[in-house]
Amino acid sequence: MRLGEKERVGVSRICVVGGSGYVGLGYAAVLADLGHEVVALDLDAAKVGRLNRGECPIYEPGLPELLARLRPTGRLRFTTEYAEAVPGAAFVFLCVGTPSLSDGAADLRQVRAAAAAVGRHLIPGGDTIVVNKSTLPVGAGDLVACLVAEHAPPGAGARVVANPEFLREGAALHDIYHPSRVVVGADPADAQAAAAVAALYAPFAAPTLVTDRRSAEMIKYAANAFLVAKISFINEVAQVCERLGADVTVVAQGIGLDPRIGPLFLEAGLGFGGSCFPKDVGALAHMAEGAGIEPRLLRAVLAINGEVRRRFVARAEALLGGLDGKVVAVWGLAFKEGTDDLRAAPALEIVPMLAERGALVRAHDPVAMARARDLLPGVSFADTPLAAATGADAVLVVTPWPQYRDADLGALARAMRGDLLLDGRNLFDAAAAAEVGLRHAGVGRPTVVPRPAVGTGEAGAETADADGRG
Ligand code: NAD
Repeated sequence: MRLGEKERVGVSRICVVGGSGYVGLGYAAVLADLGHEVVALDLDAAKVGRLNRGECPIYEPGLPELLARLRPTGRLRFTTEYAEAVPGAAFVFLCVGTPSLSDGAADLRQVRAAAAAVGRHLIPGGDTIVVNKSTLPVGAGDLVACLVAEHAPPGAGARVVANPEFLREGAALHDIYHPSRVVVGADPADAQAAAAVAALYAPFAAPTLVTDRRSAEMIKYAANAFLVAKISFINEVAQVCERLGADVTVVAQGIGLDPRIGPLFLEAGLGFGGSCFPKDVGALAHMAEGAGIEPRLLRAVLAINGEVRRRFVARAEALLGGLDGKVVAVWGLAFKEGTDDLRAAPALEIVPMLAERGALVRAHDPVAMARARDLLPGVSFADTPLAAATGADAVLVVTPWPQYRDADLGALARAMRGDLLLDGRNLFDAAAAAEVGLRHAGVGRPTVVPRPAVGTGEAGAETADADGRG
């Protein structure tokens, strides 16, 4: 979205804390694009240094171009200094991380540190609104408000508004410019603060829900929990399909046509990963337990998710007749296509399981290999998907990058030593794979093996049993 000068109304000074992260940098750039004066503040000096040299430290489609376009305007600056960013800001967006602790609870150390530092740098008589964009446990907005107040100098203070974020990495800019909804949570006494935050989003013309802070915080967790429940549901259905000879992709299509169900998030595969879904479900389960409620559904959702990856490796082992000494190409490492983010990526579970069973893993990812090298010792990396597959006994598709879907299956079959295409993301047409001599095994779909040509010289395909035997 490019905005004309007419739309650039109500310019504010905005500080984005965590402004080099996936959420913070996207918001800093878009808010500057809307015409605001933005200072993106981050303690990571390396990322801030790269941003100041005109580089983009994360992979997010469209972001380098937007940053380049904003550079001459001077509306977006990057710093590591709170003193440069906070004093005089009308809004301070908190976009720091809230990772998981070992018991599933949200780790609020970054939030506590940021809230205290923001408080210390408020100026007396200023009118600042702290906008909690980090995903915070229900009630943590109160903690932010307390920390800001505790550290603020005399005569200074800030109002705190919850404003959970729903963007998807890989489509972050699209999602910021076109939010499905804007949720703003504030104390009833702070209606003016809620209105001011909602007004920042007015250019996007999205449905806006203004509510209390705790409900706003819960909306984020409930939304993510519902989405992953859909994923674990279809993965459980896929398991049954696999055993009983049904095709889960068709089943998903058939149920998705029901408007009460809808077609999205019904892709059977390797389960959910990334920086948000696993940690947010874990945090919601932890919150439920803290409130004396047994989160049975959430626990099942997480258990199914772990099981999906173990079953995938077990299937590779069964179809290859053991993994020891087998050369296995892994296509895709990022937790999903369109990002270099490896946080809770299925590949980080699958690759070590393959290696433990003696497989020699050769991996490819279009953008995540640089980050993966330290996380996956002992794995070799190939520059192209075909190079990873050359001489391999099997190709395992782990991330649904479009370039894998577009792979030349004939060239793949010729390059491989074996014939197994274990399609963890159901990218390929099984019959087309069998046509070129590949054994195709999708998730929740019958394994299809090439039918030997008899007389006619034409190859074909036939369905195999669950172990891949024709
Ligand atoms: P991230 O780790 O990419 O970014 C966080 C940034 O905060 C880092 O650059 C870090 O250096 C910086 N930081 C940490 N402590 C700081 C401090 N005290 N002061 C200044 N900077 C500090 O995280 P992210 O993926 O952008 O997520 C941020 C929040 O948004 C999380 O709560 C997450 O759950 C939520 N969220 C993320 C997404 C997503 O797709 N990534 C979507 C919706 C919501």
